Amino acid sequence: MISWRLGTCFQLSAVVLILLLSAAFSPSTEYDLVVLNGRVMDPETGLDAIRNVAVRNGRIVSISVEPLSGRVTIDAKGFVVAPGFIDLHQHSQTSEAYLVKARDGVTTALEMEEGVSDIDQFYQEREGRALINFGATIGHEYLRAAVAELGHPNAPAGDAAHRSLTAAEVGELHCRIEHGLSRGAVGVGVLLMDTPGATPTEILDMFRAAARFKGAPVHIHVRGLEEPQYGLETDEAITDSLITGAPVQIVHANSSYQEDAPQLLSMIEAARAHGVQVTTEAYPYTDSMVSIGEASEGWEKWPDEKFQQLEWAATGERLTRESFGKYRQRGGLMIVHHPSFTEEQLLSTVASPLTMIASDGILKDGVGHPRVAGTYSRVLGRYVREQKALTLMEGLRKMTLMPAQHLEARVPAMKQKGRVQTGADADLVIFNPETVLDQATYREPTRPPIGIEYVLVNGIIAVNRGMAKQGIFPGRAVRGAVN
Ligand SMILES: [Zn+2]
Repeated sequence: MISWRLGTCFQLSAVVLILLLSAAFSPSTEYDLVVLNGRVMDPETGLDAIRNVAVRNGRIVSISVEPLSGRVTIDAKGFVVAPGFIDLHQHSQTSEAYLVKARDGVTTALEMEEGVSDIDQFYQEREGRALINFGATIGHEYLRAAVAELGHPNAPAGDAAHRSLTAAEVGELHCRIEHGLSRGAVGVGVLLMDTPGATPTEILDMFRAAARFKGAPVHIHVRGLEEPQYGLETDEAITDSLITGAPVQIVHANSSYQEDAPQLLSMIEAARAHGVQVTTEAYPYTDSMVSIGEASEGWEKWPDEKFQQLEWAATGERLTRESFGKYRQRGGLMIVHHPSFTEEQLLSTVASPLTMIASDGILKDGVGHPRVAGTYSRVLGRYVREQKALTLMEGLRKMTLMPAQHLEARVPAMKQKGRVQTGADADLVIFNPETVLDQATYREPTRPPIGIEYVLVNGIIAVNRGMAKQGIFPGRAVRGAVN
């Protein structure tokens, strides 16, 4: 419950007097907001205890067993108070998507895989207009298209996607990537599914560009089980990181590797033991999503069974060769069902201590994958509470501290996120551990979860009793240094 300290409007003069007196005599004891009696969980220090939390000027300023008072009070009795979730893989960076993300407990959503074409424009468009914190990498595919077509950055198609670049063009691409990083891109995004013409040399050069900016990671969609003709193998991505020193995140271990994920995880574990900064992430769904234009090269020759595994997201219909051809003209999103990938295999990937949780969220005009609205509540409800595949603290660590630490060398402000500690940003999620559960489905991808009661972004209430607030913009940029 939120109780406004000044709840009634009669006896106004008395209220004003009280206000003046309290400002004069006790300005330091009243906080902007307090969260009382919650089970505070901080994955870095291991704190897991009933505490009161005070917020002032967007920061956590006190965590105490003593009574605290604030102008706004949230009673968190029976609820967990955790760091807001940090999603390193959120494609749609729109007001529509931010509302949906907030209700799943996400306070920071970054477009790290595909990236964007113009870093300054990306941040300018969202500054002061975002419900949650936002950020992006510079996107290899867009700048490649600009270089290959000598034009404006677009999503690559035709020649811009398929031909290999000359050495001079790779040099130009490198310059443009470095320019994006110099404007504060969080890292470099490499979505190789969209640029099958990119050679291993070109990709190594993208790692070299990232490595010139301390800590800037490369987030890479490597060659997946169902994309044998595209991109880099896992070992090449790890080698590029080793050669250049740029950290690499291999995205969505679930959808790219499916039942082969244990091989990826053992490679990552071994490479990390030798000092390579390689990391990975997963979202808790066996089925994936792609735009119909992506990875559909040579579709006319696909066997009939392949179409039956595809579902048109807008209508839920299973595709045929004919309907696939029809929708391909129009463009849109498909759900890709992976019948051989089991829930048990997915669970072991998500529960691995190496794996961060990241949603790969896509949403446009209500059409998308349920992962955009349910990734975090699904892990907490199904994997932590129901299946006990990981402890609550382990689950929270994958959603908060791990992604924050991943970015700290590039964006030092991330040291203030992913934690419930004095001095940290007041990005908080307050949820009921007994009820939290995703509700989004393939037919209702934006249906909000239950049990996520309050979400604070930089000390401002963005979700109040499960309802996201419209028209407030407490989100701030997550951005590297701008030169
Ligand atoms: Zn991807």
